[in-house]
Amino acid sequence: MKSIPFFNYPDLFAQHGKELTDIFRMVSSRGAFIMQDDLIQFENKLAKYTGIKYALGVANATDAMQLLLKAGGIGVGDEVIFCSHTMVATASAIKFTGARPVPVEAGADHLMDITSIEAAITPKTKAIMPTQLNGRVANMDAILKIANQHNLQVYEDSAQALGAKHKGKSAGSFGLGGCISFYPAKVLGCFGDGGAVLTNDKDIYNKIKLMRDHGRGEDGNVSVWGYNSRLDNLQAAILNYFFDDYEVIIQRRRAIANLYSESLRNLVSVVLPPSIGNNPDCFDIFQNYEIEALKRNELKEYLSSKGVGTLIQWGGQAVHEFRDLGFTQSLPFTENIMRTSLLLPLNMSITDDEVDYVCQCIKGFYND
Ligand SMILES: *Cc1c(COP(=O)(O)O)cnc(C)c1O
Repeated sequence: MKSIPFFNYPDLFAQHGKELTDIFRMVSSRGAFIMQDDLIQFENKLAKYTGIKYALGVANATDAMQLLLKAGGIGVGDEVIFCSHTMVATASAIKFTGARPVPVEAGADHLMDITSIEAAITPKTKAIMPTQLNGRVANMDAILKIANQHNLQVYEDSAQALGAKHKGKSAGSFGLGGCISFYPAKVLGCFGDGGAVLTNDKDIYNKIKLMRDHGRGEDGNVSVWGYNSRLDNLQAAILNYFFDDYEVIIQRRRAIANLYSESLRNLVSVVLPPSIGNNPDCFDIFQNYEIEALKRNELKEYLSSKGVGTLIQWGGQAVHEFRDLGFTQSLPFTENIMRTSLLLPLNMSITDDEVDYVCQCIKGFYND
């Protein structure tokens, strides 16, 4: 039987083993582990690639968001609006500043539903924080317009969207800042945890630069309370290596998404994500290929029996459905997305033939 794992970590190492062990040898022989050249090099590359002024490596994207929100002045008494189809990390970053996370609906494209934002605004609302989910940027024109009308800040959870664009502008560039995650299964993944803050705001950059390293300045003086949230230099070196081929990686991911959409588009039982070129304003990097499927759980099980690994994002629950966290909202459109959505395998290991096999299995399941 075929085996097409959702993500093939061992294969990734097998493909790049020699280069990766060379990197380990090089960095270790220099003893360059914390805040060293590879990190600075990587930060420069990130800023250049995204066209965003400043990039700072931090321990993970969750920290990146928390640092961003704190640097932007979010705190006790504030409310921040986010889209509930996101990782709980978006909300926890808001929560740990002392502010209240306020979830709103996702729309048909699974991104923040523009029409739900205004009803969630109260006198306490301080910011809107869309998630650039699945490697696609939300309608930032509309979000920025609402933010301007109500005098709100904008932050982005762009953890899944390094290199994704809206009207030629990169994810992370629209408001006060964005975060990127280098979790191993992300489009640019390291071999452990890693993240970055992207911002065009010098003040935010300066604050986070201090905060990520115990509040210490270059002269050793501690001027603010800080954290230990640094991106390991070894991880930065690995990221430098993969980042050099990032264009190739994105093109391959878009090609796989295109294969799925060409093959599955006539199925009445599934709803596909926006296809490449469906909207010239959007440049998607396809962190995920998230379909909505009739009899989702049965389909998942059937695919598994055929050797195909799939994933239900966030374990199938939107953030506001975690009632133990104190949420009371009802967001029926998002809840329906959570009951029907499934991620198909899309990674740098899968071949065209394997994508075709996955599609044939899906068609077989629906007898189509
Ligand atoms: C992966 C992810 C995060 C968290 O990233 P970490 O680097 O693991 O902290 C946050 N938000 C979204 C949308 C993500 O996909």
